[in-house]
Amino acid sequence: MIFISAHADTNYKRVNLRIEGDSYVGYLDNYAGVYTAVKAFFSGEINFDYVRIELTPDEEIDMRGARQVAKEVKKNDLVIVIDVTGTPTDKDFVIEKCQSHIVRKFLVKVLDGFSYDIYADCPDPVANEDEVDVYKHKTEYCFFLGIPCHGGDYNFEDTKCKIRSIEHAAEAVIKICREYDKFIPAE
Ligand SMILES: [Zn+2]
Repeated sequence: MIFISAHADTNYKRVNLRIEGDSYVGYLDNYAGVYTAVKAFFSGEINFDYVRIELTPDEEIDMRGARQVAKEVKKNDLVIVIDVTGTPTDKDFVIEKCQSHIVRKFLVKVLDGFSYDIYADCPDPVANEDEVDVYKHKTEYCFFLGIPCHGGDYNFEDTKCKIRSIEHAAEAVIKICREYDKFIPAE
């Protein structure tokens, strides 16, 4: 199975969004991640026989949503956590906390031609706790797919993210799901 997990709760009472040129500006944590997951869903190109999309509650409180989903995650499942990141980059998206060299190798192959950075650790200066910290106890095959948001603390103020970041991150998710059969690790 592939689990795609994007937290749907926020730190805000009210939100805002505007488009400035090629970017979204507003409260983006984690509407940017949810939008990416939902964009991948509505592509019609995902085979839900082996993919689950989970828009989780309460990440900002105690990660309750991820902890619920994690109960169903098995040892060899692949988990993709989609959330905003403050990691500096001029690429479309950033893969973080990708500890498994098997997953790294798979991603590098599958995402050939995409514009992204990939890290085994978490270089995000804004926050380094996320749902990966829950899922990693169930499977080593998990990683964080970060939508780069710049210009502030995405937890509490406006930040800016490229429209193409979300489009290309969604395409990457679709590609990963489609090529998953080339990944499936031995039991
Ligand atoms: Zn978040």
